[in-house]
Amino acid sequence: MTCPNCNGSNVQTTKMAIAGGTSTGTGVGLGLSGGGGIGAGIGRTRNESVLVKDLKKEPEPPYLNWACCVTFFALGIWGYSSIHPLFGCLLLLGGIQYLFKAITGSSKSREIQQEWTEQTERGWVCHQCGHRWVPRS
Ligand SMILES: [Zn+2]
Repeated sequence: MTCPNCNGSNVQTTKMAIAGGTSTGTGVGLGLSGGGGIGAGIGRTRNESVLVKDLKKEPEPPYLNWACCVTFFALGIWGYSSIHPLFGCLLLLGGIQYLFKAITGSSKSREIQQEWTEQTERGWVCHQCGHRWVPRS
């Protein structure tokens, strides 16, 4: 397998890149404080390439739009009866706006999710140019 972008042979499956791109080790640190004291610390270090971090990042669901939508509708109903019908209607309009956003957002996010799953399950990455692709057979 060679990279279709740069023709390089430094390629790996996405799964392998994720598994091999993370290394954990133990690091020792020494520090001098302003008062003259010496502090030592042992910590675990994690080395992850930007590429691997990027591959691990799962797309976020559009739950925020749904939360806003529900909040606006609830406030709208409350505002309609407790404050002023016009005020309630305005809030309900805001809720409708978020409802549309949530519906269009969730279908888009499903596409991204599908693409991401395909890339992670069957995709390849090139360590030379950073190109990512899914081989079609
Ligand atoms: Zn490449």
